[in-house]
Formats: sequence, structure tokens, C-alpha cells
Amino acid sequence: MNKLTKTAALAAAVLLPLAAGAQETDWKAVTRYDKAEAKKQLTERFSKYVTYDTQSNDKANKVPSTSGQTKLAKALAKELKKNGAENVKVDKNGIVTAEIPSNSDSQAPTVAFIAHMDTALEASGKDVIPQVHKNYQGGDIVINAERKLVINPANSPQLSRARGHDIITASGGTLLGADDKTGLAIIMTMVQYLNDHPEMPHGTVKVAFTPDEEIGTGVEKFDVASFGADYAYTLDGMDLGELTNETFNAKAFTAVFEGMRAVHPGEAMNSAFSDNLLMASDFHTLLPRHRRPETTADRRGFILVDSITTEGDRSVVKGIIRAFSDEEMQELSGEVTRAFNTVKGMNYKGKNFALTISDQYKNMKAALPEQVLSLAQLAMQSEDITPVLTAARGGTDGSSLSFMGLPTPDIFAGQYNIHSELEYADVDVMESSLRTVLRLISLWNLQKPEQTLQ
Ligand SMILES: [Zn+2]
Repeated sequence: MNKLTKTAALAAAVLLPLAAGAQETDWKAVTRYDKAEAKKQLTERFSKYVTYDTQSNDKANKVPSTSGQTKLAKALAKELKKNGAENVKVDKNGIVTAEIPSNSDSQAPTVAFIAHMDTALEASGKDVIPQVHKNYQGGDIVINAERKLVINPANSPQLSRARGHDIITASGGTLLGADDKTGLAIIMTMVQYLNDHPEMPHGTVKVAFTPDEEIGTGVEKFDVASFGADYAYTLDGMDLGELTNETFNAKAFTAVFEGMRAVHPGEAMNSAFSDNLLMASDFHTLLPRHRRPETTADRRGFILVDSITTEGDRSVVKGIIRAFSDEEMQELSGEVTRAFNTVKGMNYKGKNFALTISDQYKNMKAALPEQVLSLAQLAMQSEDITPVLTAARGGTDGSSLSFMGLPTPDIFAGQYNIHSELEYADVDVMESSLRTVLRLISLWNLQKPEQTLQ
């Protein structure tokens, strides 16, 4: 992740036109917000959700890819209903949607909050036993003594800023599922809060819980039109204040080399022998070493070969290209083409060479109206949180949704060391995220519908 702070956008947020007669209500004073109660609810919900095994499966070829996700989807739907949400649905793809109707006459845009239910493939999500380490005072947090699984500020730098916080870990042998069950817990606690506090004015708020984010197939089936939200935020980020407004541009490439290996190697000289396997490895070698994943960071993109397969006379090289800007994407695509053409120009008796480069996903920045970001920044500032605009060195569900017509940046949710046995959730950062969401709902309620698009 590349982090850069921008404050310029904040001025724009302050100047946004308000609906006639609109005045921001101090939601915390009006509702008598109780931080300890919020932390208690977040802890209880999160600890319950992680006990569902919702690991996704990239070999399943169906959505949701695992039945554990359907089980959690049904439980979440039930809890949404219990907390006053309307129009609660679990569709055939396991996507949970719900609505909290407006209680004000502001006609503000409809804003949505989204989290994913599945957990990563890198570590098991079965029989997760959450441990709550209350009031962290520095030093080691032991996850599993026998297996020497420990987190501390040396291996988890954000812990140095977590003094006094409640930290939740697993117990060894599994991941925790903070990615993204922190998001589920924050959104569900927000839903209960709006239900418990009808005195807090808000526009229409929508909620969605999606499957299979980790394998990138969950939101493909998301019906943006019938969901009916104008703007959305995923709650799937990490440290306090992070607001992810950029993802990579992503392309995939396939280079095919056909030769003639069906010749006895002892008789290869002066025959039709032509080594497609060597062409493929030449191509790989010719790709620039200074543009590889391990030699690039921050805003610099890369090229990576994922596989080289050879069957008889045909070798296929598959890889990916990642870059934040269109110019850099063009430059890196050019490098791939150049390496390919160099092999083509070598003295091989090739029968056929082919290179295709295709789009995978795009940097969501282009699809995000400034207002979606500036209101999130303003919400954080109003809650004494410094917003940090972040560029994700990957894709997010939000980038897919943004290009499907629902602009969706990502807000921090208090998840750390994700996809590993050292994963943890910081309940105090989750609570800050909850306040950001409630403040954001309060701010959106002041926006005029006709002035929301730019
Ligand atoms: Zn996630």
C-alpha cells in the first residue's frame, strides 16, 4: 500500500452546497453516543462472525463458492431484520442486501455500506477461536505459546499506536477473519444504532454483504441497478484514517509460441526442430528485471509472468501488468510487446507466434466523484481522525462496483496482518470506523440530490 495524505480536497467538502435549511445535527450529542457500549457490540458481533467458516474456494466455479458463506449470509439477514432493516434479501448468488428507510425529508442521495463475508485462501478459516486481549499495554500479545505465534510492535508496527486498545486475535492454526468481518461488525452495529436512535436524522441507507471477494468473483453478479444506491463505501480497509481511492490498472497477457519439438533430439540438427520452450523462456528473460513485483513499490507498476506451460509444439506464457496511470500501463505493455517481438525476430523456425493483452480492471480513481471522497474525509476530520488517501497495489470490490456504476471507495476497518495466522482486529480502530460511518450518514443527509453529480 502506498500512503499519501492530501488535504486539498477538504476545502471542497466544506464548500458543498447544503439542502435548504439544512444544518448538521451533532449526531453524538443528539443520540448520547456511548463509546464503551459501541466497543462491546463490535467485539461481540465480530467474535461471533469469525466462528463461521467462510473461506472461499477458487476451484468451485460457483457463487458463493462455499456453503459456509450461505450460512453466514442467512444469519446476517436475520440479524438485519431484528435490527429494523427493511427489504432484507439473500439473492441466489448469496449477496445480502437491506435498506434502512430515510427518516428525514431531506431527499438526500442514497448511500450504501458494503463488506465481504468470505475469508482468504492462505490460511484455514475453520474452527477459529477468537481471543480478546483487553487494554493492550505494549509488548507481546501471545496468540499461541506452543507454536510461538506472537504479535508485537516489531512485527506489527501499528501496535505501537494501539496502547489502551482492545485487540482480538485467533488462537493459532487459523487466520482470524478480520478481513473482512470487522466490516460486517461495523455495518451491523451501524444498522442497530440507526434503529435504536430514530432521533438521528438520515437519508436512505443501504447495506450489502457480498461473497467471494478474495477470489474476485463475488461482485460480478451484483445487481447495481436494483440495489438502488447512488454512492457506496466498502468497509474493508486497514489502519485508522485510511481512505482508498485508487487501485491499479490491470491487464493480463498471453504469449503463444509454436515450434517443432516432435523430432528425435539426436537428429535435431538439419531437421525441422524448433524449440518453443526456449522461445518462451527467452521471452520471460527479456522482460525488464527492474519492473518486477519484488523490485517495485509505492506508485511504480510491474510485470509478472504467472505461468509457462508447454505441451508438445506449443508453449504458452501467461502474465499480468499492473500500473496506476494509463501512461505507465502503456509503457509496460510496450515492454511486453518489445520482448515478444524480439523473440519473434530471433532465428527460430517458428510456425506461429501470438501475443494478446487484455483488460482486467481499472484504477477506480477515474470513476469516483470528488464529493464521495471529500465527504468521507470531512467525516473523519469531524471525528478527529486524520484522513490518509491510499492507493491499493491491487484491485478491490469497490473498483469493480465503481465501473459498474456505483462509485465505491474503501474506508479503514481496523484489520491488520490479514491473510495470516498473525491477523488481528483493533476494536478501538473499528469503533473509530463506526463513528466515521455514522458521521458520514449524517453529512450525506445534508446533500441536495441534484447537486450530487459532477
Ligand atoms: Zn477484504
